[in-house]
Amino acid sequence: SAEPGGPYRVVLLGASGVGKTAFANIFAGAADSMDSDDCELCGEVCEKEIEVDGEPATLTLLDIWDAETDNKCAQEPCMQTGDAYLLLYSVTDRASFLRASELRISLRCVRPAQHTPIILVGNKCDLVRRREVSVSEGRACAAVFDCKFIETSAAMQHNVWEAFHGMVRQLRLRRESK
Ligand code: GDP
Repeated sequence: SAEPGGPYRVVLLGASGVGKTAFANIFAGAADSMDSDDCELCGEVCEKEIEVDGEPATLTLLDIWDAETDNKCAQEPCMQTGDAYLLLYSVTDRASFLRASELRISLRCVRPAQHTPIILVGNKCDLVRRREVSVSEGRACAAVFDCKFIETSAAMQHNVWEAFHGMVRQLRLRRESK
């Protein structure tokens, strides 16, 4: 879309149980959200207008990732469809952190020539005593993979909107530089 304020398609990626649905629910939370079940990808889709830095932006959030499938053919459409990606792991689950790295590499293979905005999101930072991945590990991983990084708690609604807003800022920057 050439429209300055989007709509931007943002896809949630990550292992099972990291908090993708919780993110989608927070995003959909406000009354003006619009759900549609008839998406061709058969997943959860929510589109809404939000204000970021005083300007409106329309985000279409896609919670369509099937973390259980090993079928690459089923995963590829999902990796093709986004303008941007929120790559989630749980700070309480090291396997999900490793999975996020794999997904980052897959994204690069599926979309090699494109500077697609990606934010690495370490969710469940409220579970302090169950933490398995440190903040500095998360930050270092994001630096290696050339993407932004944020820690969040969907349970506490901490930093979730910051992640969405950061996504919009990156999409705007990319659009301006084209
Ligand atoms: P998904 O499989 O990636 O969609 O993960 P869900 O959104 O279904 O979350 C899996 C479980 O983790 C659920 O029981 C959530 O309530 C819980 N959960 C999600 N985000 C957080 C968080 O930030 N903190 C805590 N403590 N629990 C969370």
